[in-house]
Amino acid sequence: MNIYAELISIGNELLNGRTLNTHAKDLGGELYVIGLQLMRDTTIPDDPAIIQSAVREALARTDLVFVSGGLGPTLDDITRDALALLLDRKIILDPPSVVAMAERYAARGRTMTPAAERQALVLEGASVLPNPVGAAPGQRIDLPENKALFILPGPPLEFNAILKETILPWLKIRHADARPKLVRIVQTKGVGESDIVTLLEAANFQPTDIDLGFYPGMGKVEIRLVAHPDFETEIETARQTLNTLLNEFLDTTPNA
Ligand code: AMP
Ligand code: MG
Repeated sequence: MNIYAELISIGNELLNGRTLNTHAKDLGGELYVIGLQLMRDTTIPDDPAIIQSAVREALARTDLVFVSGGLGPTLDDITRDALALLLDRKIILDPPSVVAMAERYAARGRTMTPAAERQALVLEGASVLPNPVGAAPGQRIDLPENKALFILPGPPLEFNAILKETILPWLKIRHADARPKLVRIVQTKGVGESDIVTLLEAANFQPTDIDLGFYPGMGKVEIRLVAHPDFETEIETARQTLNTLLNEFLDTTPNA
């Protein structure tokens, strides 16, 4: 059974050119290797109504929904409130997060203010996911139909730390039967995409059960073959056929 995930990245700065949104690349890659698929990546502004509709829609169609951003202490950090309203849950203080934050602040010689403490507020019933490198913890909310909503802080270091330390181990157990897709790569150079396509069409190269992706850049074109784990023979055959058809254009330099 395929398990699908969606990401909703929240932040005005992700839409106005200030900040490059790196979460989809990180999350998509991590999920991919454990056999889960990121199907959609939506970036939205710090706006409660838009947050609510985006999360409502994502939860309606997807097993795992990741929301990031807007959990900090400032006035534009509205994600928690928006989601509490949407899910009809209270917001409560998480004492272990307060303790962890107080320790972080003390270690840096800083005093924790009430504003800082706001970052330890979580939705009632959430499993709190400790943040090893920052203040606001992550949260996992288990929902009917085996769905889960993850609420994560925006800074990439924190997003990735919580993902790797808590969420991925949990997902690996929960979806132990998920199998990663097979991936093969054929790297070419000195030939354009349209010439490759012409060559492949002339040879009637149309492998079934295999997804083909063409990724041009810097005078090279990477061809990625992706298949269900049961199609080992098929993907190998397709790779060899491509190698033969594109023989004179193969880029065999190390790390090509
Ligand atoms: P926030 O959690 O919204 O307060 O964001 C904290 C910091 O993380 C800000 O500097 C954001 O620009 C950055 N940030 C938030 N979301 C992302 C993202 N999707 N990709 C990269 N940086 C982000
Ligand atoms: Mg923000």
